[in-house]
Amino acid sequence: MMGKSHFIISTGITLSVMNLLGYEITVPAVAVAAVSSLLPDIDEPNSLLVRSAVPESALRLLQVALIGAAIYLYFAGIAEPPWHIVLALLVGSVSFLPGRRLRQLVMLLIALALFAFADDYDPWNYIAACILVVASVVPHRGITHTLYAVAGWGALLYFVSLGMNDGGSLWIAGGLSYALHLLADSLTQRGITPLPPLPFKLRLKLMSTGTKKGSGVEKVCIVLTLLLVVYVFVITPS
Ligand SMILES: [Zn+2]
Repeated sequence: MMGKSHFIISTGITLSVMNLLGYEITVPAVAVAAVSSLLPDIDEPNSLLVRSAVPESALRLLQVALIGAAIYLYFAGIAEPPWHIVLALLVGSVSFLPGRRLRQLVMLLIALALFAFADDYDPWNYIAACILVVASVVPHRGITHTLYAVAGWGALLYFVSLGMNDGGSLWIAGGLSYALHLLADSLTQRGITPLPPLPFKLRLKLMSTGTKKGSGVEKVCIVLTLLLVVYVFVITPS
C-alpha cells in the first residue's frame, strides 16, 4: 500500500476514534498519529517518511561536500604523506555509497546530534532519535511490521509522555495509528507476519498491489476513512 493511503487511513481513523472516545485531540497527538501512520515502512528505501527526513537533494549536497572535503584533505597538508591520500580516499569513498546506505549514515548522524541536545526539547528529541536509530539499523521489511513493534512504539510514547499530563492521548494516537497501518497491510497480497518467529501470517489478499481490484479496495478504504472523519468532526462535533 502507498504511503499516502496509509497516511490518510491511519491518521483519519485514529483521530476519529480518539474523538469518539473523548480524548483531547492536541497538536502533538495529531503529529504523533501522522508520523506513526508512516513509521512501519521506514525500513523501505522509498518510504515517504525516510524521503522527507533525508531528501534526495540533501544526499546530493552531502556527496558533493564529501568529495570537496576529500580534495581539501589531499591538498591541505593536515596528514603526513602517504596518509593524506588514505584520508582523502576514505572520506571521498563515503560519497560513493549507495543512496540507501548514505541515508542510513545521515540518519545515524542526525540521531547522534539529537541525543546530544536531547535535554533541550524533551521528550521529542529522544523520540526522533530513537526512530532514526531504529530506521538506520533495522533489516528491510523486518521487525517493523510485527506486534512487538506496535508494543515497543506504544511503550516508548507512553513512558516519554508520562510527565506531560496529556491524559494518554499521545501513546493512544501513536499506538493506534501504527496498529492501523499493520491492519491495512494485512489486507494486501504481501500480508504481515505479526509474531515472528511464529510462521503465522495475516494476509487477506483483498488488495494485490498494482492490480485494478487492489487499487479499487485501497480507494474504498480511503473514501470510508474520509466519510468517518467528516461524520465525526463536521456532522457531529462534540
Ligand atoms: Zn507497511
